[in-house]
Amino acid sequence: DKKVTLAQLQEVVQEAYDQVKTNTGGKNADYIPYLANVNKDLFGISVCLLNGQTIHVGDTDYRFGIESVSKVHTAILALRQYGAKEILDKIGADATGLPFNSIIAILLENDHPSTPLVNAGAISACSMVQPIGDSAKKWDAIVGNVTDLCGSAPQLIDELYKSESDTNFNNRSIAWLLKNYNRIYDDPDMSLDLYTRQCSLGVTALQLSIAAGTIANGGVNPVTKKEVFDASLAPKITAMIAAVGFYEHTGDWMYTSGIPAKTGVGGGVMGVLPGQFGIAAFAPPLDGSGNSVKAQLSIQYIMNKLGLNVFGHN
Ligand code: GLN
Repeated sequence: DKKVTLAQLQEVVQEAYDQVKTNTGGKNADYIPYLANVNKDLFGISVCLLNGQTIHVGDTDYRFGIESVSKVHTAILALRQYGAKEILDKIGADATGLPFNSIIAILLENDHPSTPLVNAGAISACSMVQPIGDSAKKWDAIVGNVTDLCGSAPQLIDELYKSESDTNFNNRSIAWLLKNYNRIYDDPDMSLDLYTRQCSLGVTALQLSIAAGTIANGGVNPVTKKEVFDASLAPKITAMIAAVGFYEHTGDWMYTSGIPAKTGVGGGVMGVLPGQFGIAAFAPPLDGSGNSVKAQLSIQYIMNKLGLNVFGHN
């Protein structure tokens, strides 16, 4: 099992950045007004090795909306609180083959939301966060867990939270449809609000690479050395990411990149290579499915150039 070195990675990450920087493909998310106005030229790539060394090229200190990448963090929190079996039973770990915001994801498997990594299952996961019934304490648990994973605190982007709360009609419908099928475990409006707020957390690419590194490292944060979650949960969360991290394009993504990764409409992508490193790339312009164009290209470049692949050899 070949281990990549810091020097190798540094060189290839810089190459990826230089190659992809001028790409003009995609456009910012526009269904959330705040995201439409983020500088489209921002671009950064970060890698966190399991010994705690980090690499950062470009805008890796810029705080952007974590959006759907937060689904991974809160799935981990739910796994910590309930264990692997109960999450599988109550939500699931399947691919949906559908866009992130699909309302029929709830109906696919006998009223089952399929996975905590699409909107339906993520709202369900927020409803499960303990303590049930206490929005403030649930929020503290969500933020505390993101902080543990990232090794430092995220910051709520108030303007994004407001922008998203004012326009999240589709997600409101999902929350209430979950209620109809008894797949929401706390107040639906509260669960939706927690979900919307967690999506509005501002994080940097460096923070996301450390969170990914924590998963790649079996639950121990490589930088802070804190044990964030039990090692047995690491392959569970990585399996979920591998199954649905790019929604309806997850198969294509795994085929072309060889790394389980999770995307968000804020332009972030977070990839986990177990036993090797965590990687994150950020650039706002998205393809038609809501996945960052430059983040995809740069991570693909790095994986292919280094000959790394979770399934063998790229
Ligand atoms: N908050 C966004 C939404 O629910 C997240 C979507 C995403 O990043 N894919 O619509």
